[in-house]
Formats: sequence, C-alpha cells, structure tokens
Amino acid sequence: MENTQLVELANKYGSPLYVYDTDKIESQYNRLTNAFSSVKNLKLNYAVKALSNVNILKFFKNLGSGLDTVSFQEVQLCLTTGIEPQNIIYTPNGVSLSEIEEVAKLGVQINIDNLSILEQFGQKHPNIPVCVRINPHIMAGGNSKISVGHIDSKFGISIHQVPHIKRVVENTGMNINGIHMHTGSDILDIDTFLRASDILFDVARQFENIDFIDFGSGFKVPYKEGDISTDIEQLGVQLSARFNEFCVEYGKDITLMFEPGKFLVSEAGSFLAKVNVVKQTTSTVFAHVDSGFNHLVRPMMYDSYHHITNASNPNGRDRYYSVVGYICETDTFASNRRIAEISEEDILRFHNAGAYCFSMASNYNSRYLPAEVMVHKGKDYVIRKRQTIEDILNNQETIDFSESKPASKEKVKA
Ligand SMILES: *Cc1c(COP(=O)(O)O)cnc(C)c1O
Repeated sequence: MENTQLVELANKYGSPLYVYDTDKIESQYNRLTNAFSSVKNLKLNYAVKALSNVNILKFFKNLGSGLDTVSFQEVQLCLTTGIEPQNIIYTPNGVSLSEIEEVAKLGVQINIDNLSILEQFGQKHPNIPVCVRINPHIMAGGNSKISVGHIDSKFGISIHQVPHIKRVVENTGMNINGIHMHTGSDILDIDTFLRASDILFDVARQFENIDFIDFGSGFKVPYKEGDISTDIEQLGVQLSARFNEFCVEYGKDITLMFEPGKFLVSEAGSFLAKVNVVKQTTSTVFAHVDSGFNHLVRPMMYDSYHHITNASNPNGRDRYYSVVGYICETDTFASNRRIAEISEEDILRFHNAGAYCFSMASNYNSRYLPAEVMVHKGKDYVIRKRQTIEDILNNQETIDFSESKPASKEKVKA
C-alpha cells in the first residue's frame, strides 16, 4: 500500500491503527494454490490465530479457504461467518477432553495430538473420525519458541509411537481419517518439508481410511529486503509430485492440506503509529510512538524484525533511530535503525503486521486495543473499533468497601 494512503487512513481513523490489504491476502492465497495446481484435491485452511478478525475469516471463506483453529473460541468465531463446520479443522494442544468433545459435537474435524486423549476420545466416540498430529522430530523454525516439531517439543505424537496409535485404533474401533504435522514457523528450507512429508507418507500407509494429509505450515515470508523466504513454487513442484505418487500407491485421491497463517496475512498488514516525541540522549535518538509491546509484541517476545518506514516523510534523509513505545517498561521496536528523518507527529509504518500482531495485543497499561481497518477493492472499512474506557472496565465488578469497614472493637467482643 502507498504511504500517502496509509497516512490518510491514520489521519481519518486515528493512531495507532492496523490496516489490512485484501488484495495481498488474495494474491498470497492464489500463489499457494497455483503452486499445487497439479494436485487434484488441495485444501488450504487459514490458521485463524495469526489474525482472527471475523471479517478476515469471512474473506478467507469467500476465497474458498477452510479455517484452522486451536481453541473452542476460535471455532465459535469461525462459525459466525457461516462456514460449514466440516471446513474447520481443530488442532489444539493440551486441551481437555471435554473441550475436544464440544468441538466434535459441532461437526468440526478433530485433530488430536496425544495418546491419552486419543484413547479416551476413541473409547467414547468410536464413530467420529479423528486426525492425528504426528511429531516427525524435525528441527525447524525460525527460533526455539516457534519451533515445535523437534524431539522434546510438547506438540504431537512421536513417530516412534505410531504402533501405539494403531493399538488404540484396534482397541477402540475408532477411525483415523487424517495425518497431520506442523513443525514450526519460519521454515527456511524446503528440504525440511520434503523430509517430513516422507515421514508422513510412511505413517499414512499404516492406516486404511486416510482422507487427507495435512502438512501444517511454517512458510517463511520476507521481513526485510533481501530476506530469504520459503520457495513456495519449488516446494509445489516437488511435494506435488511426491503426493500424487502417494495417491496412486494408496489407491485413492486423498486431499493435500496446509494451514498457513503468516504466509497468507503477514505482508498484508501494516501497523501505523504516530511519533509523540523525538528524544536525544548522549548516544541515541529515540522516536517514541503512541504504542508499545501491548499492541505489537513480536520484537520484544521473539526478537522479531519488523521493517519500519516513515510514511509521512518516505523520501527524507536517512538517519539512525531507536523506535520505542510509550508504555512503562522497555518496549523497543527497533534499535539503531536507518529510517527517513523523523519529526514529531510523523506516522511510522511497521511492515509485516498482519500475522501475530493484533491477535497478540493486550490491554497492558490499560491502553486501548487499536482499531483495525480493512482495505478492500479500493475502499476502507473499520472492522474493529478502537476500544473505549467501557471496554477496559467491562467485566470488572466493583466492591462497595464502605460496607466492609473493619468492625469496631466492641462489635468484635460482642
Ligand atoms: C500456528 C499454527 C499454524 C500457522 O503457522 P504459520 O507459521 O503462521 O503459518 C498452523 N498450524 C498450527 C497447528 C498452528 O499452531
């Protein structure tokens, strides 16, 4: 999106502000679909947790996407869009049997990631088909917090325990209809996918009624110029060929699934914040914006790089800034970063703010969550209003302390 348009939106709706461009979401969706066009049955399930505004979910539904969820609440959000429950997959980690049963009751595809719950669920509901999340023990992911497929990860059922899954199936009469993995976010190397896919094919061979194999996600997108990203087209060529071979061998055109979050929405989002103060210290020039890690936590939580540009003065002379927030705790967005000269009240643009930005925002410091705007076919729509003090106070019950004054000494005696 153009800087002038973004500055206009910030002026129109106030700052800080999240802005999402549906054209970019659609082109990423099509890019992935096209990369796997030689596969007969392909299904993308957008990972809702990346950005869960219901209008985003509705947009994906209209593209023909399914939705990938990790909580009962995400399932509820999805259902408000009118999507059929069978187009939702539920891939929780460490949730209770009762939550899984609640979701299954709605007709959503269940994906179970531990043997204990698998056995309990199979005993009670042998007629509900279940997908299993396999941990292929492959080290992947941009950093240790988002790498979830390695041997000591809490996610998935170990490939070494596949015999145990088969035993549970035999004992309960339940049906495994899908094999799933999700090895981590920010995978750089398509060989990781291919190695893991071979492992999943091996697992799938051991079950008779497989309808789909879900390869999860973790596609990396560029966060700055020259950044490496997952070569989706190359992955498409290589994985499609193997998948199609597998279908022939298995004797059935099963569905190839992915559940990308970041790949589909990261680049579509911009976060706009206004510079309150430019402060010089002996060593540093700080640009303090009207936001903090309450609104965009990734730099502080994951050391993530978010490209920052000055949307108000894009052609200004580059200078070095540390971009920091306004909350009372260290909330550094960028240190010693080259940015076009910043004046107070300029609008800074944080790139790649579509995934895991708004969805991880909090009310820390009792600040309001920012508004969200969707730009669709040249028009802008507020898809979430900025909060108000009522939102902060909502659900807080007040105690009338005047009624619970300490009792007088006499009363205590009595
Ligand atoms: C978070 C998550 C995804 C999406 O990961 P991205 O890196 O955003 O593509 C997919 N599947 C599962 C099970 C997840 O937990």
